[in-house]
Amino acid sequence: MDRRTFIKTTGVVAAHAAVFSSTVGAKQSPQQRSPQAVYHLNPFEQQGQWYKAAFHVHTTTSDGDVDVPTRLAQYRDLGYAIVAVTDHWKTNDLSGFSDEKFLAINGMEAHPQTRTGAPAHHLVCLNLPHPFELDRKLQAQELVDNVIQVGGKVIYAHPYWTAHTIEEMSEIKGYIGVEVFNAVCQIRWGKGFGNVHWDQTLNKGWALPAVATDDVHSSKEIDVGWTMIKARGLGKAEVMEAIAAGSYYASCGPTVEDFHIKDGVVGIQSSPAVQIRFQFDRAGGGRVFNAKEGQTITSAQWKLPTNSPPGWIRAEVIDRQGRYAWTNPLPVPQETVKKIIESK
Ligand SMILES: [Zn+2]
Ligand SMILES: [Zn+2]
Repeated sequence: MDRRTFIKTTGVVAAHAAVFSSTVGAKQSPQQRSPQAVYHLNPFEQQGQWYKAAFHVHTTTSDGDVDVPTRLAQYRDLGYAIVAVTDHWKTNDLSGFSDEKFLAINGMEAHPQTRTGAPAHHLVCLNLPHPFELDRKLQAQELVDNVIQVGGKVIYAHPYWTAHTIEEMSEIKGYIGVEVFNAVCQIRWGKGFGNVHWDQTLNKGWALPAVATDDVHSSKEIDVGWTMIKARGLGKAEVMEAIAAGSYYASCGPTVEDFHIKDGVVGIQSSPAVQIRFQFDRAGGGRVFNAKEGQTITSAQWKLPTNSPPGWIRAEVIDRQGRYAWTNPLPVPQETVKKIIESK
């Protein structure tokens, strides 16, 4: 992969960059851009507040065990500030549920067919109007285009559970994230982790951020995987802007306090962990830092290799209970690569 595929300056990103007062890198010619690449911002370099978010939630409107008011109250009581209700093929009337401390986002999970004959795509659609219907016979791309047309955003759900390959994931353009963790798929079927699928998209040059979700159906499956969003405020516009910009990290427990690349060194700070890993786009890639027996670590630093520097790096934090957090990948800055190459 050409590491320049991470450096994207579309109008959308330029708008976010202005909002978040961040620069996103050098210009790139159109033919170097991946058609699906959505370059995300590093939340640890943005101004704003952290908000705990649930992006994939079912209620009795489809096959969940409690109704919308009960589900929203459950999440609110658990300290969530943002909840997207995403019932299968159906939206909900969420008027009256949001206030200055809580944002309810209307959404839907849609299931268009794959072209390869593999099981249907599962697409979590956020920020839909209500009422709103999608034609179930639409081709996957048409469906995504319809969602985008009304101001919605799409996240590719649980690719491991649906037995999808990069081929199926590549059929659609325009989604802005992928589930790296889906609690229901893990609890019921042991297929909740999407990290290998995620890395494949990254290696293809699609700079996708990743979310963790509950995909809650039964109230026993709540608050297992969530996404921490850094946004300028809790208004719908600010939150959707942060989601579109990838200004977040995913977690099942650990807190990430900082993640950055500076002067050729990648560094992370987190809540107490037994292991911190850096993952990147090279064969054999993966750099692991372990706490000593019975102890924990709260940071890790790694000097980027001078031999074949990576194009992107992301971090994983694992706590004593075996719970993960995942940062979104950062592109290795061009000046860092230049320095590394010059120092050889
Ligand atoms: Zn699903
Ligand atoms: Zn679902």
